[in-house]
Amino acid sequence: MHKDDQALIFELSNPGRIGYSLPEMDVPEADINELIPEGFLREELAELPEVSELDIMRHYTALSTRNHGVDSGFYPLGSCTMKYNPKINENVARYAGFAHLHPLQDESSVQGALELMYDLQEHLIEITGMDQVTLQPAAGAHGEWTALMMVRAFHEANGDFKRTKVIVPDSAHGTNPASATVAGFETITVKSDENGLVDLEDLRRVVGEDTAALMLTNPNTLGLFEENILEMAEIVHGAGGKLYYDGANLNAVMSKARPGDMGFDLVHLNLHKTFTGPHGGGGPGSGPVGVKSDLIPYLPKPVLVKQGDQYVLDYDRPQSIGRVKPYYGNFGINVRAYTYIRSMGPDGLKAVTEYAVLNANYMMRRLQSSYDLPFDKHCKHEFVLSGKRQKKLGVRTLDIAKRLLDFGYHPPTIYFPLNVEECIMIEPTETESKETLDAFCDAMIQIAKEAEENPEIVQEAPHSTVIGRLDETMAARKPILRYQKQ
Ligand SMILES: *Cc1c(COP(=O)(O)O)cnc(C)c1O
Repeated sequence: MHKDDQALIFELSNPGRIGYSLPEMDVPEADINELIPEGFLREELAELPEVSELDIMRHYTALSTRNHGVDSGFYPLGSCTMKYNPKINENVARYAGFAHLHPLQDESSVQGALELMYDLQEHLIEITGMDQVTLQPAAGAHGEWTALMMVRAFHEANGDFKRTKVIVPDSAHGTNPASATVAGFETITVKSDENGLVDLEDLRRVVGEDTAALMLTNPNTLGLFEENILEMAEIVHGAGGKLYYDGANLNAVMSKARPGDMGFDLVHLNLHKTFTGPHGGGGPGSGPVGVKSDLIPYLPKPVLVKQGDQYVLDYDRPQSIGRVKPYYGNFGINVRAYTYIRSMGPDGLKAVTEYAVLNANYMMRRLQSSYDLPFDKHCKHEFVLSGKRQKKLGVRTLDIAKRLLDFGYHPPTIYFPLNVEECIMIEPTETESKETLDAFCDAMIQIAKEAEENPEIVQEAPHSTVIGRLDETMAARKPILRYQKQ
């Protein structure tokens, strides 16, 4: 690393040096104490670094390269689908006709934007096998919550007030029980069986007259396709409950199988995963929800409809759960997803699924002799290893994740799902080359060898990053966001 990269801007400060040039003043200089009331003047901000324009440019450019992103390196973060986001999406999202719209413009002046949203809905209806889609929710978890509010509205409209429980398998994504709780339901956990799939006996035991819905993450967080979905649908529907499909990771089944055909009543998608919207530090994202016809009345309003050749936002929806987001969803992300779908075409989307699954299976097979493989069966878009063997040598999964930083990789998801000891969850995605997959596998195999021969090197990793091991809890709870001059 170059020494400039480590220099902090205060240390670069040189009294009198300036980073801007303004024309000579031709008005009297104002007194700051007259302009800003005393109480608002902050002593501690009086001393700013005095640096040149070039110093400050290098400082921020250096900081910007300290982040690891999918454009800078491999990012196999299980369940998060950190795949390449094609730059054509960005070009289209920047078209002035899209980027300069105002959300309060009259419908008649934004027909093109409404048409794009309507077409995107139609594509998502086709891809999921549902009857209608809303683009309003801003994230996957937001989509889950929106769907559950609709489930509640549906049951209540039928005078059915006793359905207070949502069933969630222990291999579900963590947002599922959280969304159920926020939507006011009680979460009932159903166990996985020895194959890592939902235990049907346990499901039969917990389903009843108080079941509002079953939320199914498919493939589950072990990367396994739930083989008994049709039977699950029968059990839950038989008891009067609704079936919800967490489709955040649709790249595992897209163009091969459709939630709507499997018996699901509701589904959410993550356009910022499968459909190449960027994951922007927690947002903006897009988590559209698809529903079957009996749930259409409860969709968030407005609902985008087509009347003749006009696109209209319909607010006259007496049974709607209401708005779930200001305006109409994150339009920019929807433009990117639409661009992606149109540029890939149906065959392209099918190839996405095939390569996502092929890549995950290839890596699983290359790594299975170096790490424990708790579920030795064909996986979908991701797979789960266990660091149990390495733990016996004193090397924990956290150490392995940290050691991967030295090889220039973002680590996989670790310690999730909870039902696998020392869990390592790897999702390569379809956009990576065989060379990249092999290089990552070589690093993982080397780390397994180091754990046997030289565990300290793994236990003390990372060795090459700007900052070593953080106290992650303190960094999240008490972040120090501002540089304090010593
Ligand atoms: C990412 C993910 C979610 C949550 O999506 P957010 O946009 O992060 O809220 C839900 N379920 C699964 C399976 C996911 O992978």
